Amino acid sequence: MKPMMPALRRSVTALLSAALLAPFAACAQTAPATPAKKPVVVVVATGGTIAGAGASSANSATYQAAKVPVDKLIAGLPELADVAEVRGQQAFQIASESFTNEKLVELGKSISTLLKDPAVDGVVVTHGTDTLEETSFFLNLVVRTEKPIVLVGSMRPGTALSADGALNLYNAVVLAGTPSARGKGVLVMMNDDILSGRDVAKRVNIKTSAFGSQWGPLGMMVERKAYWFRAPVKRQGMTSEFDIDRITALPEVAIVYGSGSMNTSLVPAAVSSGAKAIVHAGTGNGSVPNYGVDALRQARTAGLQIVRSSRVADGFVLRNSEQPDDKYDWVVAHDLNPQKAKILTALALTKGVSSAELQRMFMEY
Ligand code: ASP
Repeated sequence: MKPMMPALRRSVTALLSAALLAPFAACAQTAPATPAKKPVVVVVATGGTIAGAGASSANSATYQAAKVPVDKLIAGLPELADVAEVRGQQAFQIASESFTNEKLVELGKSISTLLKDPAVDGVVVTHGTDTLEETSFFLNLVVRTEKPIVLVGSMRPGTALSADGALNLYNAVVLAGTPSARGKGVLVMMNDDILSGRDVAKRVNIKTSAFGSQWGPLGMMVERKAYWFRAPVKRQGMTSEFDIDRITALPEVAIVYGSGSMNTSLVPAAVSSGAKAIVHAGTGNGSVPNYGVDALRQARTAGLQIVRSSRVADGFVLRNSEQPDDKYDWVVAHDLNPQKAKILTALALTKGVSSAELQRMFMEY
């Protein structure tokens, strides 16, 4: 076959590409691309170091928590407007060590109400880091939603050199508006890690890498994109049997800390203070000293639930090992640390459960 002349080949190619591209050109003329609608994310502020301020930029550890109002936090981060339509709501302005059961219930109810609004895609809760693990577990259990709830804090106040709050908050807002974050329970966004609100814990009290879980993060956030590596398997959100809309108050649960030569008179003190359950933060596998068993058995006889947990950060407490839980009618906290065990026990008590039911809950949540 005779080869096509170069000029002819060029015009045939031009005609072909014009024909192939014509439908797209027509499309582009008739339907100009509309910018993607940004997710609506509400930032519910509760205080903490992320809203903290120090006397100088060299103060990374000496400062006052809970100083900066939510509107200022949002205004200080203009990059947020690129990733979401952000609204602010000031729930509290406190350091998180001052959270109470009443505040937990109030916060849960207002987040539940916010997320019932079809216009809201997700919620970010700015929170002090000290009790962030309790609040994240509580919300994980009681807010019946598929929408993302993301807790975030910082280890340095915004006034400090190399403050970590700005990027943490930016990442949290991105995550709350990310469709793949739906249905994964309450999430915690810290130091680029996406952690499960169920088992996250503050594990270092002074570094920006403060938060972790013995089961690892669920994923990471890098440059506005969430990368997932695992998913939670425990009941939460829509699969939970707890519902904040039906909870008005939480009963008192006392934690008694185990140690060598522990003071066992704290157990009857908890009973007479009106506690409805005692979480024993035992040594090792939730062990109870031989001189402390009677006090816990008497507390059980007085009607309190007894939950054996461990003061050791990782691992899990096994039923009927170390102590005969069946015989004493005690419960084990499994892998939940004492402060998380306290939250689940308090919620269980709102339903007046038996020890067997309480044990079931510790295995399912
Ligand atoms: N004490 C502070 C708080 O929990 C610490 C922090 O936010 O990092 O509110």
